[in-house]
Amino acid sequence: MAVDPILSSPLGPAASEKDAKALQFIEEMTRNADSVQERVLAEILSRNGETEYLKRFKLEGSTVRETFKSKIPVIKYEDLQPEIQRIANGDRSAILSAHPISEFLTSSGTSAGERKLMPTIQEELDRRQMLYSLLMPVMNLYVPGLDKGKGLYFLFVKSETRTPGGLLARPVLTSYYKSEHFKTRPYDPYNVYTSPNEAILCADSFQSMYTQMLCGIYERKQVLRLGAVFASGLLRAIRFLQLNWHQLTHDIRTGTLSPKITDPSVRNCVAGVLKPDPELADLVAGECSKDNWEGIITRIWPNTKYLDVIVTGAMAQYIPTLDYYSGGLPLACTMYASSECYFGLNLNPMSKPSEVSYTIMPNMAYFEFLPHEHSSIPLSRDSPPRLVDLAHVEVGKEYELVITTYAGLYRYRVGDILRVTGFHNSAPQFHFVRRKNVLLSIDSDKTDEAELQKAVDNASKLLREVNTSVVEYTSFADTKTIPGHYVIYWELLVKDSANSPSDELLGQCCLAMEESLNSVYRQGRVADNSIGPLEIRVVKSGTFEELMDYAISRGASINQYKVPRCVNFTPIMELLDSRVVSSHFSPALPHWTPARRR
Ligand code: AMP
Repeated sequence: MAVDPILSSPLGPAASEKDAKALQFIEEMTRNADSVQERVLAEILSRNGETEYLKRFKLEGSTVRETFKSKIPVIKYEDLQPEIQRIANGDRSAILSAHPISEFLTSSGTSAGERKLMPTIQEELDRRQMLYSLLMPVMNLYVPGLDKGKGLYFLFVKSETRTPGGLLARPVLTSYYKSEHFKTRPYDPYNVYTSPNEAILCADSFQSMYTQMLCGIYERKQVLRLGAVFASGLLRAIRFLQLNWHQLTHDIRTGTLSPKITDPSVRNCVAGVLKPDPELADLVAGECSKDNWEGIITRIWPNTKYLDVIVTGAMAQYIPTLDYYSGGLPLACTMYASSECYFGLNLNPMSKPSEVSYTIMPNMAYFEFLPHEHSSIPLSRDSPPRLVDLAHVEVGKEYELVITTYAGLYRYRVGDILRVTGFHNSAPQFHFVRRKNVLLSIDSDKTDEAELQKAVDNASKLLREVNTSVVEYTSFADTKTIPGHYVIYWELLVKDSANSPSDELLGQCCLAMEESLNSVYRQGRVADNSIGPLEIRVVKSGTFEELMDYAISRGASINQYKVPRCVNFTPIMELLDSRVVSSHFSPALPHWTPARRR
């Protein structure tokens, strides 16, 4: 078939003229990665030259890359905390950005147990939307005919708060879904969702999920792709179906809406979809009532071509479960983004998850790369390290991502470790290796070693009353259950065997650990129901010595051996599980309220 020259692109033949423009844009940006980066930095520095932050480092209006690199320190969130706090308290002067900070985006990364607050400016919404607009043109190169049906995407807003100075603080996706950019997006046949905006925007997660599921079932034949932001979110939807199919099929059979859906705007919009359809109800109930849920996704949505979910990084742990429920549908990881900045996209979205590489779009921010072997060395403000520019990273090497954004983050360490896998034109492509310092993660929660240690310390205080202490511990993110949950293996020293800790006391220890974990974890437990109750598995005494013996038998040095604080290697898990004497679960929810911002 001859390709219309207007629609040809180095990436492949575009599906429409609009797509061709998007693909052309990707080509332009990636061909000129270094000059685009130079322009972006100059733009950021010239508009923000008079900000307090840049003046403090005596940049004196320079927009030259080398001057910027020699004068501006490489920083972490904690270094910016005083400035962030002033903005949160209502200081509207140009501290970080000449453009007013429009709101704070609450990252799932935490500092001192609370979500980090990322400043953003109004125009960043345009940049985010621009990156979103590139996704379908790329996908259309690989999966034809997506304009012939719809996408069932489980999308949610989360709670928002205000800082003392009155700025909104909320997750980046909540901000995006509530923006006019999303709500009044123009019709695009390649990007039609089954979920009504009203359902996506409903703050009650049950009502939102219920409605999205219901609408998705009604349009089961039209659904060509199913997705959520992260893999854990899509599995939560499957679990929701397991728990609620009786009610859902009742509603479909009768054409009425469950009284649990009370939000008037949701009820109103569902009224247009709802009609009695006993045949559909029978079909769904028939599938859901089977014990075996293998391939349930394609049984209910038979025309699904792929699942659109991120399964790179911490989410890779969900791949086998997704494969099970979908009967092995392709998994598409389309983009790489954060609250600080949206970074880039996957130009080969149907590639296997283990081979996914993201191409950072050079127009999104100014990107630098800290060679990973140096990233553990404390960075001195006086002699900034040599960071590598986007266009000059080397294939095969690992780097930590450092960004300078339009919203006023300068040489900010994101904490992601990326490995260069190749280039598209002059723009590098990166494999997401891991996020630094994350030990345990189920959903968007990220628990590091220090947080786990503190939680164990706090919980083990409860054991003092029975003269017992925790000798050793390790942990494991158990994602076999939906939602997944943290498992902590404890080896105890019970000094008075007549008075060993009861199940109730160990349950309280589970809860004490949860109370100590950061607010993203507790929000996952309480508001999002994305994390299940924490479990302590008590192992026989001597188990951790066996663990060491095993590691040494596999070549670990006896002098340098350290107990791993998190395990996921099957033989080790098997060893631990074979030594379990009792297991205990958190009996209640920990405390969580949308954070009050001091
Ligand atoms: P947040 O700031 O809460 O939005 O989280 C952003 C972080 O999520 C990033 O810095 C990454 O660590 C992780 N992340 C985002 N997109 C991806 C992706 N496509 N693959 C792996 N990890 C990702």
